[in-house]
Amino acid sequence: MTSASVILELRGIRKDFGALAAVDGIDLAIAEGEFFTIVGPSGSGKTTLLRMLAGMEQPSSGDILLRGRRINDLPANRRPTCMVFQSLALFPHRTVGENIEFSLKIRGVSKVERRQRAHGLMRLLRLPEELYGKNVTKCSGGERQRVALARALAYDPEILFFDEPLSAIDYKLRKTLEKELKDIHRETGKTFVYITHSLEEAMVMSDRIGVMRQGRLVQVGTPNEIYVTPNNKFVSEFIGDVNVFPVEVAGPGRLRSSAIAGEFTAPKLPSGFSKGHLVIRPEYLRFLADPSGAENSLKGRLYNEYALGSRFQYQVRVGDQVFVVEKLRQQAYGGRLDDDVVIGWDARDSILVTD
Ligand code: ATP
Repeated sequence: MTSASVILELRGIRKDFGALAAVDGIDLAIAEGEFFTIVGPSGSGKTTLLRMLAGMEQPSSGDILLRGRRINDLPANRRPTCMVFQSLALFPHRTVGENIEFSLKIRGVSKVERRQRAHGLMRLLRLPEELYGKNVTKCSGGERQRVALARALAYDPEILFFDEPLSAIDYKLRKTLEKELKDIHRETGKTFVYITHSLEEAMVMSDRIGVMRQGRLVQVGTPNEIYVTPNNKFVSEFIGDVNVFPVEVAGPGRLRSSAIAGEFTAPKLPSGFSKGHLVIRPEYLRFLADPSGAENSLKGRLYNEYALGSRFQYQVRVGDQVFVVEKLRQQAYGGRLDDDVVIGWDARDSILVTD
């Protein structure tokens, strides 16, 4: 990223609440037009970080720069940014049109122009024209969410901040809105900074993701980098079911584990690696007709099977350890529960991480 393309930069940002470091020293550069998502479990400091970026909270130390200019002391209403909340915060008992036009009215934009702009935004957000005069309280959850976004866009901010806007919405609508938000991001070319506790949601929409834990950014990367090369155990486990077990180096290119008998062929060892965890995503484990079918194999017993729609998930017990295997429906395991099975993986399909 060249410095000219950086819109927002954080240098050593901290926020202390008494003895608690809610945000514990964050350095980050967000590019112009980027869709950047901050993910992390509850209490990891996402909202506190976003509130500082939006000017609703003062950092205890560190600097926030907008195109190279320090904006720590600039109040929220004087920043070219806008927050889209989870709670929507729409004006109840006002129409869709009045809600969208609110910021334009404050700025003294003429009625004709306001109306034109509101209709343009409604088209962008796929809101039917007839909703213009409808009371927002009579709109569906999905419509209200689109109105909230249209209202934020009407303000024409350079950066939009999103605080878990989809978390209160049911699964199916959320999946639709995630994709729409990505389209809107592309169509408007604005910078979006989004927070969520769902890495899956982040994966769908984002150009880059920052994973937060206990006030720190533990990894920043593209969705693909975060999924394929997590840089620690916490990140590898954050996206859902994954097989993780402790390993140590047994010899050149070899690993052993106290959790499972035997030695394994290692993937490329990170420099200086002596012990850590081996991560195998469930879709990379295979059922084998015999152990020679993969570089590494384990004998176990089929313990559970779950139908997930397009996929099946299996639990295979190997000693005290349970492995999760996932297969597409057309590659489903054809046997029965309690079968003796062999599962395996190739070294290149596993990842080594430290704690
Ligand atoms: P969630 O996903 O649950 O919203 P989060 O990742 O957004 O969590 P924050 O809301 O930023 O996390 O909170 C981080 C930590 O700071 C938490 O331990 C929280 O209790 C604490 N905290 C947040 N705001 C305040 C405050 N005003 N006073 C004291 N502690 C606070």
